[in-house]
Amino acid sequence: MQDASQRIAKVILPRRVWEGYDYLVPADMPMPRIGERVLVPLRSQNAVGVVIDHPTQSDFNLKPINRVVDEVPLISEDLVKLGLWMSSYYHHPLGSVFETMLPKKLTEGRPINLEGEKRWELVDPNSKPKIRPNAHRQQDAWQAIHERGFVNNSELQGLGIERATLAALEKNQIVRSRVVVPKLTISPSDLVPTDEQQACINAIRGHLDEFRAFLLDGITGSGKTEVYLRLIEEVISRGKQALMLVPEIAITPQMMNRFKERFSSVGVFHSMVSGASRFETWVKVATGKIPLVIGTRSAVFLPFKNLGLIVVDEEHDASYKQFESLRYSARDTAVYRANYSKVPCILGSATPSLESIVNVRNGRYHLLRLSHRPGTAELPTFHIQDMRNTRVEGGICEPLLTRIGEHLSREGQVLVLLNRRGYSTKYFCKHCGWTAFCDDCDVALTWHQEPRNTLSCHHCGRRYLPVRTCPDCGNEDILMTGVGTQQVEEQLSKHFPDVPHVRIDRDNIKTNRQMNQAFNQLQVTTEGLLIGTQMLAKGHHFPNVTLVAVLAADNGFLATDFKGAERTAQLIVQVAGRAGRAEKRGEVWIQTYNPENEDLQSLVVNGYAGFASTELEIRKEGQFPPFGQLAVIRAESSEESLAETFCEEVLDVLRGCQDVAVLGPASAPITRVAKQYRFQGIVIAENRKSLHQALSMVERKSPTSRKVRWSIDVDPVEMS
Ligand code: ADP
Ligand code: ZN
Ligand code: ZN
Repeated sequence: MQDASQRIAKVILPRRVWEGYDYLVPADMPMPRIGERVLVPLRSQNAVGVVIDHPTQSDFNLKPINRVVDEVPLISEDLVKLGLWMSSYYHHPLGSVFETMLPKKLTEGRPINLEGEKRWELVDPNSKPKIRPNAHRQQDAWQAIHERGFVNNSELQGLGIERATLAALEKNQIVRSRVVVPKLTISPSDLVPTDEQQACINAIRGHLDEFRAFLLDGITGSGKTEVYLRLIEEVISRGKQALMLVPEIAITPQMMNRFKERFSSVGVFHSMVSGASRFETWVKVATGKIPLVIGTRSAVFLPFKNLGLIVVDEEHDASYKQFESLRYSARDTAVYRANYSKVPCILGSATPSLESIVNVRNGRYHLLRLSHRPGTAELPTFHIQDMRNTRVEGGICEPLLTRIGEHLSREGQVLVLLNRRGYSTKYFCKHCGWTAFCDDCDVALTWHQEPRNTLSCHHCGRRYLPVRTCPDCGNEDILMTGVGTQQVEEQLSKHFPDVPHVRIDRDNIKTNRQMNQAFNQLQVTTEGLLIGTQMLAKGHHFPNVTLVAVLAADNGFLATDFKGAERTAQLIVQVAGRAGRAEKRGEVWIQTYNPENEDLQSLVVNGYAGFASTELEIRKEGQFPPFGQLAVIRAESSEESLAETFCEEVLDVLRGCQDVAVLGPASAPITRVAKQYRFQGIVIAENRKSLHQALSMVERKSPTSRKVRWSIDVDPVEMS
């Protein structure tokens, strides 16, 4: 026991540990604040950690902190709270949570220069100072700065100027340094908000100084982005910072451009941004030098000095969920973050997630609606095309092909959605039925025309050279079936050879620039064909599209996954929303072998809101989320029995807990991926408390065999 007069700091180390360790604060050290990095002894070494608490007593024999690393806390107090919440909610080691939240460089422990870009200038530009004639380096440095007016820190190396030289000049008051903060200018919008938009803006504007979660339910093209822009503008002009989360950067160049037109400086933060520049953004955000950041998932961890607003665009999107390690939802984390920071959070979508709809019903979120498109733009009409008894070629049935031709001849663009990339989804022997499978996964291989003639596994990425003869019976009758986007593209360009076309899927669009290029290609023509996967349904507006064709999306309504129907409805409505943006009214064709499917009918007849009500009834009956609380336990190993046994072990403990139902273990829907056998179990509870109590009983379990990896997934988005 430490005596009560001693000062103690609890420090979390960014590594796989479940809790913080207590350290003594030496008498001559000011009490480090929450969020400050400190260097502490750990066994025989030193480690960098973050102060998360100031306990009044400790049961251990404590060692003293070596030193405080930064002058200013680089991790805000609300972030520390967020970390603690994530660890307990997602049942993930607290230290690993901090490891995920912090840029790598911050966990290394070197002090950070918080000042940003320094610029060197002359104290007196108008007269030549006295520099010793043989101090050549000083002479040269003076000359360089004199010629240019100033020199930025980043240019020093290129000019051959050394820091020591500048330090000497600074000491003699010949040069001085200054930190440059880019000035933000805001260009006013030339749009007049509609009454609906104004009502939403006013509703949120009245609560900018407190936590409140808003669901902005606005059909595609109703002007949600304009609402975000105006509120962000307001927040920034009050001297605060704003965070806008988007599902994926590569598919939102249009939105980025709109923000850049309005705000002269926008920070961008996503996984493709290099380590150094992620780190720079982190520091600039911490010191208040960036007023606005647009980013994906991990941007929710940025340490804003003075946060004023969080926006989560397309809140229903599954990309907000991380599928490995710390399986967090950036949307839900954003709401907690806003709560700890006492700022509003806007969740926007044309197809809100069922969780958010229920959160509106139970009063946790405030609903705001945008039900019209500004100006003359009208919503498209729906048509369900029965594929039975029609000729189908390359995945497209004859009536649809005719309809596509009609739209093209009237100078309309056509968008074709097929959520399967590649050319053919099955490669098999006509004689014995052999099918090409991945060696490492229980998954059939997809044949790709490009990259040239390969079979590719869409789960582990492994590629194979296609065989010409069947490895089982030696026959040469190898066939392909199952249509992917490459085949649709081939089929359509055969039928409409003179019409420009672009294909948009993950095989050929990997960057922001490629997306922009594809998009621009279609801006310059009035007719054109767009073929692609769900990437097409995200963010982009195609004003000249008059026909949207959905080829096989309704298959998702038959999925066993409890979220399958919701995801499918969202995809169809989102892609439909790309049509008829300008004066041209659009139509949506859904071709299907199941025209009577209830979900499909409900969606087409009653719209997304109608579908959501029906689907919520079904969820309620089955006690599925958002009514029941769910977690998936997954275990995997290269040895099947090890994975199954360990999964069973965890589930057995859970079965002994109160007020939870446990299912499993069972093989995962895809039994083996990348040589790992996968087993899973489901835990369902009526309320969160019981679920979390149960999960706490198993969270620290470690498998006896090192060949087993396992995880807890709270609020799963996918059951595979
Ligand atoms: P959403 O984000 O809801 O899909 P956007 O904000 O992108 O919708 O708006 C769709 C289109 O409508 C854009 O081209 C935008 O410039 C235009 N728009 C938005 N608000 C207005 C308005 N008040 N008056 C006229 N046009 C508007
Ligand atoms: Zn065969
Ligand atoms: Zn594979």
